[in-house]
Amino acid sequence: MSAQPLLKVDNLKTHFTLSKPHPFATPQVVYAVDGINFEIERGKTFGLVGESGCGKSTTALSVLRLVEPTSGSVVLKDTDVCQLNRKELQRFRGNMQIVFQDPYSSMNPRATAGEIIRSPLKILKIGTAQEQHDRVGELLKLVGLRPEQRNLFPHQFSGGQRQRICVARALAPNPDFIVCDEPVSALDVAIQSQILNLLVRLQKELNLTYLFISHDMAVVQHICDDIAVMYLGKIVEKADRRSLFMDVKHPYTQALLSAVPTIDVELQQKATHLEGDVPSPIDPPSGCYFHPRCPRAEARCVKEEPLLREILPNHWAACHLI
Ligand code: SF4
Repeated sequence: MSAQPLLKVDNLKTHFTLSKPHPFATPQVVYAVDGINFEIERGKTFGLVGESGCGKSTTALSVLRLVEPTSGSVVLKDTDVCQLNRKELQRFRGNMQIVFQDPYSSMNPRATAGEIIRSPLKILKIGTAQEQHDRVGELLKLVGLRPEQRNLFPHQFSGGQRQRICVARALAPNPDFIVCDEPVSALDVAIQSQILNLLVRLQKELNLTYLFISHDMAVVQHICDDIAVMYLGKIVEKADRRSLFMDVKHPYTQALLSAVPTIDVELQQKATHLEGDVPSPIDPPSGCYFHPRCPRAEARCVKEEPLLREILPNHWAACHLI
């Protein structure tokens, strides 16, 4: 990582206290994000990967303060996002935007594409009405749509085109940093690569920095420079793409990689298959959170929590056996 990353996340925690079923009950806490650290260099893509329920989307929303973190810091370009008051945060939002998983549910079906793309400019009071109109035309072209499509409604576009509109909306205030929260998982496979290629092209042209959330190791391998694997609110392995895919260390990452389809018979035979689901973050297992599903678990794993350690230069893993 560079000395001055664009984004630095330090010991971020997001815990939710559930409402009590009766006044004398002990309040239950969901440890959705539980002390995670990472940095992203300007112009790079950092992937957060894991199964559904591992805390990756809550991490992304916490970084943007769309969900309020419990503690920790998120420094974007020398500004600690967690320390901003409501007004300052509103102004700062132009620097950090998000593309959601399901383009259709993230847009107003009664607004035109032009109105949707223009909405952040109106909220952030950027430019005159004419400048906003011109900017929408520019953005439509930038994402591969035609300026005259500004007057169409979301249902008149295909899924891939709707995601292009969401990307254009995210780009409208000219941000440095964009969170891509499973941006292709709701799309057909053929369309997925078009949207991924669009994100890669825009990153090069505009020097964008992405936090890319995905459950799909193949997608992460295609697009990310650095990757962290999350399990039950914690990072269990973190490395650059080459190191992670060439020399995977953690049994959970190995299992995720085994789930990627391959025609290599030898790899199929070595594959580790994950049994069961991610345990509840309300009452996580003792010791290593992964021990109930880990094929290599030992007695020590049930009692002691492994720390995330640097086991190779810039390659971190949390496992007693590494
Ligand atoms: Fe598996 Fe033990 Fe390593 Fe956890 S610490 S991943 S249970 S071997």
